Amino acid sequence: MTFKDQMDRQMDRMMLRDSYGRPIRDLRISITDRCNFRCFYCMPAEAMEWQPKSEILSYEEILALSELFVSLGVDKLRVTGGEPMLRRDLESLIERLARLPGLCDLALTTNAHFLRNRAKALKDAGLRRITVSLDSLDPERFALLTGRNELAQVLDGIDAAIEAGLKPVKVNSVVIRGVNDDQAVAFAAYARERGVSVRFIEFMPLDNGKVWRREMVVPGEELRARINDVYALERVKQDNPSETARRWRFADGAPGEVGFINPVTQPFCGHCSRIRLTADGMIRTCLFSTVEHNIKKLLRQGADRERIVEFIRATVDKKEERHHINDPEFVQPLRTMSCIGG
Ligand code: SAM
Ligand code: SF4
Repeated sequence: MTFKDQMDRQMDRMMLRDSYGRPIRDLRISITDRCNFRCFYCMPAEAMEWQPKSEILSYEEILALSELFVSLGVDKLRVTGGEPMLRRDLESLIERLARLPGLCDLALTTNAHFLRNRAKALKDAGLRRITVSLDSLDPERFALLTGRNELAQVLDGIDAAIEAGLKPVKVNSVVIRGVNDDQAVAFAAYARERGVSVRFIEFMPLDNGKVWRREMVVPGEELRARINDVYALERVKQDNPSETARRWRFADGAPGEVGFINPVTQPFCGHCSRIRLTADGMIRTCLFSTVEHNIKKLLRQGADRERIVEFIRATVDKKEERHHINDPEFVQPLRTMSCIGG
C-alpha cells in the first residue's frame, strides 16, 4: 500500500459517518435566532421570544467547534440564522472561518436586506459565494410574505453581491401554492437577466404558525414544466449526490440556471451529508429532529478535545435515516427554521 493509500485510509477512519454510512461533510451554523423579517412560513409576526444573549454561542465558541468539525472531515460550512447579518462584525467571523485548514466551501444565507453596504467586505473577508432568500419579485407579494416592504433593498443587495464578485449568487425561493407559485417564469427570466441561480424550495412544515398543509406544497416538477414551456431547459450534470437541488440550465445558452429543492415530493435523505449547530449551541442531526444535543454545555464546562469529539461522533451516530413529512405519524419539530438555521 502506498503512503497516499495509507493516508486516505487514515482520513476515512477519522471522517464522521452516521450509522447508515453517510459521510457528514456539511455543517450549517446558525449564528442568531433573531431576524428583521417576518416570513410567515418561518417566524410569527409577533411574540417571538429571543434566546438571551448569554445562551448564544460566541464567535470564539463557534470557531472552536467549526475547527473540530473540519478536523473530522466536514469541508463545507454555511453560516445562517435567523438573519446572520444582524450579528455584529460578521465579517470577522467569516474571515476566521475562511482560514480553517481543510475547509473547501464557505457560504452565507441571508435575506440580503443589509447586503448593499457589506457585500464587498464579506468578499474581502473570504466569503466565496452567497445565497439570498427571495420569494417574490412583486413588491406587494414580497411584503405579504416577509412582513416587510423591502423588495427594492433585497434586489439591490443581490446586485451588490454580483458586483462584489461573489460567485455563484444563488437565490432561494420558497414556493407556496396560491401565494407565489405564479412567479416561477418571472424568476426564470430574472435568473437569465442577472446570471444567477434561482432555486425553488418546496414549503416544509417548519413554520411557527403551523399553517403548513400538504395542498400548499407545489412540487418542483410542476414548476419546472411551467418554466420549460417558456424557456427550454437542459439538465446540468451533477456529480455530488448530496446536492439538494436538481439543476437545469437554459437550452438557448442564456446565463443563469434554475434548480429545484424538493424535500417533500422527492426526499433526498439517502444522500444527506448535513448536520446543524443552532445559535444556542445544540447539534441537530436533521431539520426535522425532535431531539437536540447540547454541545455548548460540554464546551462551557471546559471539556477537552477528545471528550467533545467523542460527543460529536456519538451524536452523528444518532442521525435519523430520513424525515417523516409524508408519514401519518409525522411530528413537526418544536423549533422553526429561524431557530434551527435553514
Ligand atoms: N434569514 C436568512 C434568509 O432568510 O436567507 C437565513 C435563515 S432562513 C431560516 C434560511 C432559509 O430557510 C431561507 O431560504 C428560507 O426561505 C428557508 N425557510 C424558512 N422556513 C422555511 C419553510 N417552512 N420551508 C422551506 N424553507 C424555509
Ligand atoms: Fe428571517 Fe430568513 Fe426566517 Fe425570513 S426566512 S423570517 S428572513 S430567518
